[in-house]
Amino acid sequence: MPIDAIGRGSGKGSMSGSRIYMDWNATAPLLPEAREALVSALDHLGNPSSVHGEGRAVRALVESARRDIAALCGAQAAAVVFTSGATEAANMVLTPEFRMGRTPLKAGKLYVSAIEHPAVREGGRFSRDNTCEIAVTSAGIIDCAALETQLQAHDRETGLPMVAVMLANNETGVVQPIADVAAIVRAHGGILVVDAVQAAGRLPLSIEALGADFLILSSHKIGGPKGAGALVARGEIMMPSSLIRGGGQEKGHRSGTENAAALAGFAAAARAAARDIDGRMAAVAAMRDSLEMKMRSSAPDVIIHGQSVSRLANTCFFTLPGLKAETGQIAFDLEGVALSAGSACSSGKVGQSHVLTAMGYDPRQGALRISIGEATTQVEIERCAAIFAKVAARRPSTGQAA
Ligand code: PLP
Repeated sequence: MPIDAIGRGSGKGSMSGSRIYMDWNATAPLLPEAREALVSALDHLGNPSSVHGEGRAVRALVESARRDIAALCGAQAAAVVFTSGATEAANMVLTPEFRMGRTPLKAGKLYVSAIEHPAVREGGRFSRDNTCEIAVTSAGIIDCAALETQLQAHDRETGLPMVAVMLANNETGVVQPIADVAAIVRAHGGILVVDAVQAAGRLPLSIEALGADFLILSSHKIGGPKGAGALVARGEIMMPSSLIRGGGQEKGHRSGTENAAALAGFAAAARAAARDIDGRMAAVAAMRDSLEMKMRSSAPDVIIHGQSVSRLANTCFFTLPGLKAETGQIAFDLEGVALSAGSACSSGKVGQSHVLTAMGYDPRQGALRISIGEATTQVEIERCAAIFAKVAARRPSTGQAA
C-alpha cells in the first residue's frame, strides 16, 4: 500500500487501507525526505573510516548528519556520538565510569525519575543498589523537593550523583521542569542526563538552555529510520566510558562501523524536526484538543491524564472507567485504530504502566495512549472520535473493568 494512501499515518504494515495510525510515540512514520536520504546513502560504497575517496564520501555524509543532529539540540557537532538508538545511548551514559579529559571521574549513584522509559529506568551500568527512584506528583511531574532531599543525603565519597529525568514522558506527554531539575543537580555538583526522545521535534530543544550534561535522542521517534540514535554531550570534556569497544570509531566512544544510511535518514528527519516547531505543534494540538473535546462529550467520565499541566501537543493518555486498557486496545484495533496501552512490552503484551503507578493511579485498569502527528488528518480525528464513542458505549455498565 502506498505510504500516502490515507496520509503518512498509515503505511506499510497496515491491515487495510482505512486504518488510522495513532501511535506516533511508539514510532513515527518514516518521513519521505528521510526515506530518500536513507535510500540514496545506501548506494555509497565506502567505509567511513577508510581514507580513500569512497570512504571520505561516506565520512562526509556521517559528519553532515552529525551537524544536523547537533543543530536540532543546540549542541556542538563534536559532542554528538551516534548509537543504534536511544536505548544504547542510555546504556552508554548511565555508568559510574566517566572521564574528565584524561582524569577518571566516578558517579556514585543514579537517581532516575519514576516515570522514565525502561531504557533509562533499568539504570544502564549502575547496580540496582546504586539506582534510586525520584517520585513524581499525581500530575506526573517530577517532585523537585524529593530530588533535593535525595541529593542532600547523597554520599559524595561514593562519587558524584547522576540524575536522569526525561524532558517529556512517552505515555502521558507531560513535560518535565528540566531547568529546575538542572539547578538542583548543579547545586549538588551532579551530572544531568535528559532523555529528549519524545520532546525532539515537538518542543524547542537546547542542551544549554535545559542545563543538561547529556541528551538522548532516537531517530525513529522523529520520522527517521529505526536503529539510529545519539548521545549528545554538553561539551567534549566529560564523557562516559565506552559501552561498545573495538575499532575506536566515534572518537573511541562507540566502536563499530557507522550506519551511514540510517544516519543520513536520521539527519533528514532532524532537519524537518527543527523546522517551525511552534507552527507544526499548534496544528497538532488543535487536532488533539478537538479529539479530547469529542471524547469528553461522548464519555464525560473519561480521565485524561496530565491534562491540567504542560503536555506534548500530540499525546492523549486516557482511562475509560470500566474498560481495561488491553480490552480497549483490541477494540480500537478491530475498528481500525492503532493506538497503545501504555508502553508496549517487547513481548507485545500489555504490561501495567509504571507511569500510572508512579502517579498514584491503580494501574490494573490501565490507560490508552493516542499519539498523533503532523500527517494526522481531521478526518481521522473525526473517525477516531466516533470509534471512541462506540467503544465507550459498549463498556460494561457495572463499573467493573471488562
Ligand atoms: N526513551 C523514550 C522516552 C522512548 O519513548 C523510547 C522508545 O519508546 C526510548 C527511550 C527507546 O528508544 P529506542 O527505540 O531508540 O531505543
